[in-house]
Parts: sequence; C-alpha cells; structure tokens
Amino acid sequence: MTIRVGIIGTGFIGLDHGNKLVNVINGSTVTAVTDVNKTRAAEVAALLGGAKVFDNGHDLINSDLVDAVLVCSIGETHAEYTLAAIAAGKPVMCEKPLAPTTPECEAILAAEVAHGKRLVIVGFMRRYDPGYKEVKATLDGGKIGAALIMHNVHRNATVPESFTSFMTMTDSMIHEIDTTRWMLGEEITSVQVAPPKRTSKAFPHLQDPQFALFGMESGVLSTSEFFANCQYGYDVRCELVGELGTSSLVNPVVASSTIAGQDADMVPPDWRVRFGPAYTAELQAWITGLGKGEIVGPSAWDGYAATRVTEFGVQAVKTGQRVEIDYIEKPALYR
Ligand code: NAP
Repeated sequence: MTIRVGIIGTGFIGLDHGNKLVNVINGSTVTAVTDVNKTRAAEVAALLGGAKVFDNGHDLINSDLVDAVLVCSIGETHAEYTLAAIAAGKPVMCEKPLAPTTPECEAILAAEVAHGKRLVIVGFMRRYDPGYKEVKATLDGGKIGAALIMHNVHRNATVPESFTSFMTMTDSMIHEIDTTRWMLGEEITSVQVAPPKRTSKAFPHLQDPQFALFGMESGVLSTSEFFANCQYGYDVRCELVGELGTSSLVNPVVASSTIAGQDADMVPPDWRVRFGPAYTAELQAWITGLGKGEIVGPSAWDGYAATRVTEFGVQAVKTGQRVEIDYIEKPALYR
C-alpha cells in the first residue's frame, strides 16, 4: 500500500521531507503540494516527480489525491491546516510547533477528541535520533538509576538578523522541552531563564546565548543552553545524570582526521546533517504506521505541552523570574 502525502509549505523542511517521502521512505509518495509562494511550489512539485500543485491548503487537504497531510508551512498556519485535516478525517503530521499559542493547541486537542481517535503527530524528530533513544533506553533499563539532572546544549553556527531572543524558546529550545518531557516521562512544571554574558558575534537585539532551568514534576532539574551564534557548527549535547551513573549523547562521527599531531572530528554543519537520520526514521515510522491503520509519533498533547512551556518560557525570558507552569487536564485519548 502506498500512502499518498500532500505537503503544505514547500520551504526548507517541506522539500527535505518531500525528497525523503519520494526517494527514501518505503510506502509513500507525494501527490500534492501547495505554498503561498506558487513559483516555489511548482519547482518543488517538479523536483518531487510531478506532484499536483494546489491553489491552497484546504483544497489539498480535501483532494481525493491525498491520503495524509504534512504541514510544513510557517508556524502561524499550523492550527488552521491541522484542524482542517482533522475535519476531513485525514492523518496529519504537523511540523513543530503544533501551534504557536495554547488556545490554538487546545482547539486541536478538542477537535481530535471529538473525532474519537488520533490523527495528529508532531514533528519532534529527536525522539527518533539513535543517540537520544539509547540514552532513554539506558535510563528506562535502570542502568543509571533514578534520573536526577538532565543537561542540554543546543548550539547553532549563526542565525539571521530576523531571529529574536524569544525565538530561542519558541523555535529552538522547544526541541529540548520535548526531549526532556519524553526522556523523563513527566511534565515540566517551572521555567527560569538567565542571560549569560552576550557574545559579540550576535546582532545587538539578540540575547545570545541563553540559559534555561526547567523543573520537572518529580523534582528533576533540566538545564538548557542555547547558543545561536557559536560560530563553529551545529552541536547538540545531552547528559543524563542518575543515582548510579550518567548517559550522554555523542555527536555522530563519520570520519576523523589526524593532522599536525592532532585528531580532529567533524562537527555537523547544521541541523539537517545532524538529525538527517532522525527525520528519516520519523517519517518511516509515520508511514509504516499509516499502512497498518495506526498513528505513530508524538501526539497533539505533546505538541500542546511543548507550546505551553514555550509560552511560560517567553515570560521567563522577559522577567528573569522562575515561572510555574500549569496545564489543562489531559484528555483520556492521550493517557
Ligand atoms: P520556510 O523555509 O520559511 O518554509 C515555509 C513555507 O511556508 C514558505 O515557503 C512560506 O512562504 C510558506 N507559507 C507561508 N504561509 C503559508 C500558507 N498560509 N500556506 C502555505 N504555505 C505557506 O520554513 P521552514 O524552515 O521550512 O519551516 C517550516 C516549519 O517547519 C516551521 O514551523 C518550522 O518551525 C518547522 N521546522 C522544523 C524543524 C525540525 O527540526 N523539526 C526544522 C526546520 C523547520 P513565504 O516564504 O512566502 O512566507
């Protein structure tokens, strides 16, 4: 069975995912695309082997050519298209964030609950990264004892001038927020953000780097450094400290050079290289699940919870104070 995917938004990630769905993933093809940038949509359609270009996302969602919807447009449009896919009864993978605000996320939860079964997954691909999976398996297997502290580092070579201090939370740390919840199997209940000394390599309006402290239901603490202009490459680290030991990510190394008496490993240049295998695994799990009539992937609740934390995180960036986080009651569909 081949799942016919329609892609809304043919920018960076829409094209990346489309290429994988056509050329790498077993059991999928891309039959439809749309974007407000019609020229770009037509170019991507041609690159993906002649998918039909739709005038807008709603026509794509309701087309008989589309079995499943992939939302890769800008965050502000995610709720509109995810809700339309639920209304059409079609499975939908929505790139992060599920939506930028919690009222929009709550509307998606309500629509999915009213539908009576899951249709939505959210693109938190780190859950599919072999390193994160192994750290989680080590914790879940009891090898390092009970978790006490989680340390996260997320460094990016450079960002454009349009990147703001709040996007650190809403665009970047949202990944650490999801991996922390998923790794520890509990919700984040507080957030505090402290500004370290600023790098001279960032545009003046941007507080860079930033350092956040997330408190968990059980009392575990999770630290998160985000450094948008670290200059040297894309570097994601995670160390989980338990009562009996620690477990850490190792950046994937494909080759090592020895030059002038020193060993040198390559640092991934960007997120597409670092998490390429994770994106592939995420899409394959989604498509394989759909082939069996199952919805496999982070849920709309996971999307809601992450957005909830980023909203309080933005407050914490503004005030520097520790902010307590509360949630709506989790619907039975997601328990
Ligand atoms: P991008 O390159 O800017 O692509 C987004 C595309 O959506 C643009 O072509 C944009 O057109 C188009 N668009 C805007 N409004 C639309 C609408 N109403 N209907 C259809 N298309 C519309 O951005 P991107 O980097 O691909 O990111 C897209 C989404 O994926 C974001 O939510 C981002 O956070 C997420 N993302 C996730 C990851 C991850 O690691 N999971 C990585 C990258 C991106 P205009 O440019 O003309 O506005």
